[in-house]
Amino acid sequence: MEQALQEERAAPLKEARILGVRVHRVGMDEALRQLECLIQREEPGLVITADANAVLIALEDAEFRALMERAALVTPDGFGLLWAGRRLGQPFPERVSGVDMVEHLTRLSHEKGYRLYLLGAAPGVAERAAQNLLQRYPNAQIVGVQHGYFSETDEPAILAQIAAARPQVLLVGMGMPRQEKWAWRHREQLGVPVMIGVGGSFDVYAGVVKRAPQWLQRIGCEWLWRLMQDPRKIKKVRNLPRFAWRVLRNKHLQESAG
Ligand code: UDP
Repeated sequence: MEQALQEERAAPLKEARILGVRVHRVGMDEALRQLECLIQREEPGLVITADANAVLIALEDAEFRALMERAALVTPDGFGLLWAGRRLGQPFPERVSGVDMVEHLTRLSHEKGYRLYLLGAAPGVAERAAQNLLQRYPNAQIVGVQHGYFSETDEPAILAQIAAARPQVLLVGMGMPRQEKWAWRHREQLGVPVMIGVGGSFDVYAGVVKRAPQWLQRIGCEWLWRLMQDPRKIKKVRNLPRFAWRVLRNKHLQESAG
């Protein structure tokens, strides 16, 4: 049994290349197993939940692209990315989103005692998110919370505060790609085995924004819901046709070459 577990852990994760950008072909269960392996390893590891927008950012931002290559885990998030995987013959098993990951990690913390730290969102939001999550998972170990609107002057104190709390998982909700770059830049000082970018997840758990109903998520229209809640997201939505066009062109080039 133990040997089977080790073999499973040693097996490399399957990767897809979406417009050349690396995304792992994992479902939620495999992603969570990988996170638990990272926690045991105790080295700093970065986890990125990548949607179509993440791929577009990576194509224009060399630093972020390098992080997508180095990350211990890049999960497939968003309808657009799942569609691209199917189109390019590298299907993803399912969506593995930051919002869902926060919930699963809190449950695992409740069951196994993993220490979590919530960093990001407006003042008071991460606290409220933590309170709401603790109502459902009372034994979860949330060892600290900190909002994401701090100045450079406050940064050293915040880094020291996080390191002193010794979290095993740092959930960073400061928007992509800032959250990933920030976490990776400070990895040595933070010393956290799982640093995961979770975007606006704390707003969802605090009840500041509502998640799309299941049926809208199922038909791939969560973006429409988000846009109604926050019209500033129009830039991301406008990017979707650009992403789709590039995927179709890429597929066409693949077929002509083959
Ligand atoms: N945020 C933050 N610090 C900042 C800017 C943004 O903590 O300086 C937070 C913001 O309050 C929100 C999250 O980052 O909770 C970004 O959410 P969004 O859904 O836009 O994330 P993305 O999809 O860009 O990853």
